[in-house]
Amino acid sequence: MVKAIVGANWGDEGKGKITDMLGETSDVIVRFQGGSNAGHTIVNNYGKFALHMLPSGVFYNHTTSIIGNGVALSIPALFKEVNEIIEKGVPAPKLLVSDRAQIVMPYHILFDECEEERLGKKSFGSTKSGIAPFYSDKFSKIGFQVSELFDEELLVEKVKRVCEMKNVILEHMYHKAPIVPEELLETLHEYRDMVAPYVCDTAAFIQDAIKAGKNILLEGQLGTLKDPDFGIYPMVTSSHTLAAYGAIGAGIPPYEIKEIIAVVKAYSSAVGAGEFVSEILDEKVADELRKRGGDGGEYGATTGRPRRMGWFDAVASKYGCRMQGATQVAFTVLDVLGYLDEIPVCVGYDIDGKVTKEFPVTSKLAKAKPVYEYLPGWKCDIRGIKKYEELPENCRKYIEFVEKEIGVKITMVSNGPGRSDIIYR
Ligand code: GDP
Repeated sequence: MVKAIVGANWGDEGKGKITDMLGETSDVIVRFQGGSNAGHTIVNNYGKFALHMLPSGVFYNHTTSIIGNGVALSIPALFKEVNEIIEKGVPAPKLLVSDRAQIVMPYHILFDECEEERLGKKSFGSTKSGIAPFYSDKFSKIGFQVSELFDEELLVEKVKRVCEMKNVILEHMYHKAPIVPEELLETLHEYRDMVAPYVCDTAAFIQDAIKAGKNILLEGQLGTLKDPDFGIYPMVTSSHTLAAYGAIGAGIPPYEIKEIIAVVKAYSSAVGAGEFVSEILDEKVADELRKRGGDGGEYGATTGRPRRMGWFDAVASKYGCRMQGATQVAFTVLDVLGYLDEIPVCVGYDIDGKVTKEFPVTSKLAKAKPVYEYLPGWKCDIRGIKKYEELPENCRKYIEFVEKEIGVKITMVSNGPGRSDIIYR
């Protein structure tokens, strides 16, 4: 059976933790989109890890970790991560890389940096991992598929052709030194040798696993509001963050995805620029939540930059769950809110004097002002609690209020970063 674990918000909801947790009963864990531009932080018996390329299920002996065709594959980042986890005592992962995945090239990272520099104040707040230039090239049909690394004749010709085009832009637009095709070719040979033992037709592997009745997890990166079609365009990522894309990015029939677990965070956080209606504008209040947030503060797993903080946004989260097609919700980082006397929840958007509960297009979103309801806090630490009934009454009321607003059953409540910090309902 195939389950997808995806974000209903802006990312950083704690998908990594939920994937690591559900990895125990899974056979295959697949990354289907995105690249090394976002990180999943995982705390388990081996220590604390920030994964960017590897699926969050790599910590078990029994799982196969797959980099699907939809991923922006950074080969150096992947193997740096593999080596890091092995050094910390994790068994060498059973890793498979799709022969149809495309490769993040060194010049994608360079172009990402140059473009953000050129845009200055109007930049996207990119993590400069090359993701937007990578996906642009993929759809402009000048990207490099993993399989192409193994066809020398094709590779030599294509490197030359692509360099000619890239160098015009590099020299005349960004005033940078041109790419030397021979050097690029050498880098690609290194990439080929690194990745060769892992390359296969992963779509066929996953389809066989489905037939054999195995448990498969699709692990999404970022969240609904960063999807290029349904998010806060243009301040989005360049690959689809929706569970639906799991079918394409892993290469399986859409009807095989039977469960969609949307991970929803008990408050909001976002990185990079873009509309953020329930953002906490009082910097002192925001900083307090940021310091207490996540596991050791809300700072980017890839960049270390402080995340923007906000109250729970029921409008965005309801939409986030709906566009994911959530069949259930994992509600995370609830323990963090234990210090508050009362907790604002954004239950509507006031747009030009009219209150709506529907998440609008970006141009309207820019005008939206949050409408808050205030729920009483529970003023205690809920970490360590294992049973729903043992949660303080106000905490249960918060959960049930959110559940009613978003309209999807909350089946798991996460009350700490560790694997066992979970309450099933
Ligand atoms: P992801 O990209 O969705 O996997 O999320 P991140 O890893 O970027 O951010 C989630 C952060 O919250 C990580 O530091 C996790 O260790 C931490 N975390 C996850 N679930 C919980 C929780 O229930 N409580 C607390 N306090 N931290 C959590």
